[in-house]
Amino acid sequence: MFVSRLKLVLGIFVMLSVVAGCRGGESAELFSGERALQHVRTQVLLGPRPPGSEASGRLRSWLRSELEKLGFVVQEQRFTPRTPLGPIPMVNLVATLPGTSDRTLVLGAHADTKRFEDFEFLGANDGASGVAALLELARVFRLRPLRHTLKLAFFDGEEALVEWGPEDSLYGSTHLVESWVDSGLARKISAAFILDMVGDRNLQVIDEVNSHPQLRVLLREEATRLGYSRVFSGPEQGVDDDHVPFLMAGIPAIDVIGFATSPEGVVPSYWHTSEDTLDKVSASSLQAVGRTVQACLRRLDQELLP
Ligand SMILES: [Zn+2]
Repeated sequence: MFVSRLKLVLGIFVMLSVVAGCRGGESAELFSGERALQHVRTQVLLGPRPPGSEASGRLRSWLRSELEKLGFVVQEQRFTPRTPLGPIPMVNLVATLPGTSDRTLVLGAHADTKRFEDFEFLGANDGASGVAALLELARVFRLRPLRHTLKLAFFDGEEALVEWGPEDSLYGSTHLVESWVDSGLARKISAAFILDMVGDRNLQVIDEVNSHPQLRVLLREEATRLGYSRVFSGPEQGVDDDHVPFLMAGIPAIDVIGFATSPEGVVPSYWHTSEDTLDKVSASSLQAVGRTVQACLRRLDQELLP
C-alpha cells in the first residue's frame, strides 16, 4: 500500500434510495472485536508470512479449516508472478458462501506480510488485522446470510518485494480480478470492501478518495449511525491498495484503511517496522470497523436486490 495521487475515472454506481434496514439482531450475530483480536494473535504466532514462505502456507491451512467449518467453499488460486526477486509462487485464497442470488459482494484483505531480511516483521496491524476481520465477518454472515453470494478474498503479494510501484505490488488482487474479469464474475459483483490496517489502537480510518463515491458515503453513514464517527474521522487521502484492481475493472470498491500521511492524519509510527506487534492492535478498533462493514453489506444486500 502506498500513497498516490492516482485519479480514477469511476463509473456511476446507482444505489437505490435509503432504507434503513438494519434489524437489531442477537449479539452473536454482531461482529466481535474480541474474536477478531484472537484471530490476529493466531496469525502473529505464525511469524512473518511473506509470499512463498512456509508460514504463509500454514496461515492458508488454518483459514481454510476455519472457513470450511463455517460452511464456506474454499478455493486456492496459485500463480507465479515475475518480481524483482525473480518468480515467486503466490496463492490467493477465496471462500464463497452462496446466496439466493448470484449477485456477489466481496470482502478482501491481504494475507501476506511485507518481506524484510534484517528484522522479524509480524504485521499484526499491516496484514493480520484485515484477515482477522474477514474471518469474524464470515462467522456473522454465516449466522444470518445475505441474499447476495458472499466472497472473501485473501490476497497474497499485496506488499512490494523490493520497492512499491506498478510492477512491484498488488500481485494477488491484480491476478484475482483479472481471472474474475475473464470468467465473467466481475460483472456480477455489486461491491467490494477491502480491509487493510484496521486494528490500530488509535485507529483513524481515512476517507480514501479513489474509492467509489457512493461507498465512501455509505461507510461514513453507517459508522455515524453506529456511534463510530470518531474512528472514521481520518482525512481525505488517496492510497494505492488492493481496491485499485477492482476499480480498474469497473467494480465498485472501497479501501477501508487506517493510514494517512497528511499532517492531520496518522501513519502508525510502527508501520513496516519490527514494532507492528499484537499490542498495537485493539479489539475495540477491530469491532468498530467490523460492525460498520457488517452494516454496510447488510444495507447493500437489502437495497441492491429486489
Ligand atoms: Zn504494508
